[in-house]
Amino acid sequence: PAEPELESLQHADVAGLLPHPAAESDKYRRGVVGIAAGSARYPGAAVLAVSGALRGGAGAVRYVGPAAEAVIARFPETLVSDRGPAKAGRVQAWVTGPGAGDDAATVAEVLAAEVPVLLDADGLRLAERDTVRGRTAPTLMTPHAGEAAALLGVAREEVEGARLAAVRELAAVYRATVLLKGSTTLVADAAGGAVRVNATGTPWLATAGSGDVLSGLGGSLLAAGLSALDAGSVAAYLHGLAGRFAARGAPAGAHDVAECVPRAWRDVR
Ligand code: AMP
Ligand code: MG
Repeated sequence: PAEPELESLQHADVAGLLPHPAAESDKYRRGVVGIAAGSARYPGAAVLAVSGALRGGAGAVRYVGPAAEAVIARFPETLVSDRGPAKAGRVQAWVTGPGAGDDAATVAEVLAAEVPVLLDADGLRLAERDTVRGRTAPTLMTPHAGEAAALLGVAREEVEGARLAAVRELAAVYRATVLLKGSTTLVADAAGGAVRVNATGTPWLATAGSGDVLSGLGGSLLAAGLSALDAGSVAAYLHGLAGRFAARGAPAGAHDVAECVPRAWRDVR
């Protein structure tokens, strides 16, 4: 029989993929996730990415960038460094792009690291395609339809009318795992195979900063050792559930969504 084009994870699948600290774990073995995001103009994107990363299973979150003060004020457990990604210290996976503005140098420095990288928001625009294609460690790109359209050089409507084709094409062109956000989320691997569809979300997730929480969560799962395909699809699953718990039929802010991630995690287990 032909391979199915789409698959969707169920609670039990996600439960089996969630990272669990072993009895003898220390924070480094659980994984350190680096967040190189935010700018003087958009410090909140950094705070929200860290908020997601703290709830994604990594043992430590390291922040590098101009929003360190805002990050520490909200999350004192964050390790901060003012030395740039290459010299920041041990990191098992990076997140870059949310609120990055025009800081192409930081994005390039992160992409040069030989660890998994989650590339979101401004980072998608700032990254050189050949640099992403040439990476040896996994890259997970997380565009919404508008960002995907810009990467493909087509109109947003074209992506929205053919989302499965668009996510597959991006994954092939960038040799990356691509997570296309929207009312449902599609995750395609560079190697082809079935595309994972996630529908746990709610339209209440269409709120500023929501994607920044997702990027931190996904990066944390990468640092904890999940493959890019699993990290992306598990992050989308938990983020969608957390959005439902946060909203329950009423508007919620992105920081509320992050606070509901532990509840989503417990619900899955
Ligand atoms: P961003 O556009 O980067 O802020 O990310 C928005 C997040 O909210 C993504 O995880 C989307 O999948 C999710 N989202 C946006 N709109 C909807 C919707 N109508 N239904 C479900 N999830 C949504
Ligand atoms: Mg976004």
